[in-house]
Amino acid sequence: MMCSASSLFRTIVATAMLFASGVSLPSRAQAAPAAQRPKIIVISLDAFGAASLHEPQLPAPTLHALMQRGAYAVSMQPINPTVTWPNHTAMVTGVNASLHHVLVNGLIVNQRSTTLPGIDMGAPKSQLVAVPTVYDAAHQAGLTTAQVDWVAIEGSQNIDWQFAEHPDPDGAIEQDLVRQDVITHDQLAHFGVPSQAWRDRMYTRAAVDIIQKHHPDLLLLHLLALDSIEHETGFGNNAGRNTIAFLDDRVKEVVDAVRAAGEFDRTTFIIVSDHGQQSVHQQLHPNVLLKQAGLQADSAARPAFCLTDGGFALVFQQRATDASIKALKSLYVGQPGIRSALTPQEAAKEGWPTPAQSNQAPDLLLYAADDYVFSKGDTGDFVTPTVEIGEHGYPNSNPLMQGIFIAAGFGIQPKGEIPAFPNVDIAPTIARLLHVSLGTIQGKPLTGILAVNQP
Ligand SMILES: [Zn+2]
Repeated sequence: MMCSASSLFRTIVATAMLFASGVSLPSRAQAAPAAQRPKIIVISLDAFGAASLHEPQLPAPTLHALMQRGAYAVSMQPINPTVTWPNHTAMVTGVNASLHHVLVNGLIVNQRSTTLPGIDMGAPKSQLVAVPTVYDAAHQAGLTTAQVDWVAIEGSQNIDWQFAEHPDPDGAIEQDLVRQDVITHDQLAHFGVPSQAWRDRMYTRAAVDIIQKHHPDLLLLHLLALDSIEHETGFGNNAGRNTIAFLDDRVKEVVDAVRAAGEFDRTTFIIVSDHGQQSVHQQLHPNVLLKQAGLQADSAARPAFCLTDGGFALVFQQRATDASIKALKSLYVGQPGIRSALTPQEAAKEGWPTPAQSNQAPDLLLYAADDYVFSKGDTGDFVTPTVEIGEHGYPNSNPLMQGIFIAAGFGIQPKGEIPAFPNVDIAPTIARLLHVSLGTIQGKPLTGILAVNQP
C-alpha cells in the first residue's frame, strides 16, 4: 500500500524524533575539504521492495531517521534480470548485464550440452564479472575495502577485509569473532545450518568488527533475511514486516559501531536493495515443453534445456540457428503464464547480452506472467499450483520489482524524497564520493544529492 507524501513525512518526523533520543545522525552534510574523503558504508537489504518502504507504519525507525536526514528515492530501478547477483554487480560496476555478463546467482555452466545447465556459485569474480568494479577502482587508488556477504566477489584481490557469504573458519575476521565469543569455529564450519536471521546477525557483527578494527574506506554489507522469508511466505505480510524490523536493528548496529569508532561525521551511509518481490500461486515447467518436442531426447539434433530462476528462464540450445530459435519461441508463445519469449536480439533491447557477447546469454529468454514462477521440473503438467510464495526475476518495469535507495551522512544533502533512478547510478555516486574513476559506464553520479562542495 502506498501512502501519501504527507503521511510518510509525518511518520518520518515522528520516528526521527524518537530516534533522536537514542542514536542521532549528523545534523547535515559537512562541506568536505578537497582532500578529505568520506568512509562509505553500503548496506544492501536483499529484496526490500520500494512498495514496502512506503508503508506508513513500517517498523523501521533507523531507516526513517536516515531518510529524514538525507535523501531517499521514490524507488530505485533494478536491471534485468531482477535477481540478486546481477543487481549487486550493477550497483558496483555502473553497468547492466549486457556489459557485466552476470545473469544468475553464479556462473552458468554446462549450457548448450545434452543435459540441464548448472550454476557454479563458487566461480571467481574474475571469471564472472566482465568489467571493473568501484571496489577495484578504490583499492587501486590506495583506499581500503571490505565486504561482508557481498556477491560475485569470490577471490577478489581488491578486498582487504572480508567475511564471505560462506565464511572461512580460519579467516582473520572470522577468528576475531571467535576470540570475542561471537561465534564458534564449529558454527563457522556449519554456517548454512541455522536461520538466515542468525546469519544476518553474524554478518552484521563481522561488519562491526571490520569498522571498529580496520576502518575501511569502503564497506559492502549484504543481508538476506527479508528475501528468505518472502520467498517462503509471499510478499507484503507481517512475516516480512517483522523481518524489516529485524533488519532495521542491524542497520542501527552498524550506525552505532560507526559512532563508537569516532567516524560518524565522516561516514556516508547508503542503504539499497537489489530488487523487490511479489507473491505467486502457479508454477510453470518449461522443460516439459522441450521434452515433449523431442529436444531432450538422445537423438535430438539440437538439444535444448531450460535453466529457471523465478520470474525468468533461460533456454540454451546446442548449435542454435535463427530457424531453431524461432521454433523454440513458438513452443512458448501463447502458453498460459508466459509473459514473453524473447530472441537474443529482442532480449538485447531489455539490457541482456547476446550469445555472441557472452556464453552466459540464452538462445531464448522467457518471462513469466504475474502470479507464475518457473520451476525446473520436466515431467507432468506445464502449469501446476503452488502455495503462496514470493518470487522475483520479472521484468524491471514491474512496480513490485523496484528496489530502495536511502543515503545520509557525509557528502549527502538533506534532499528528502528524490525521483526514481536506475541502480547503475550507485557505483558512479560512490566513485564520485571517493574521488576515484570508473571510466566510461552507463550510470551517472547522483549529483543532485551530493553536497555542493563535494568535488
Ligand atoms: Zn536478492
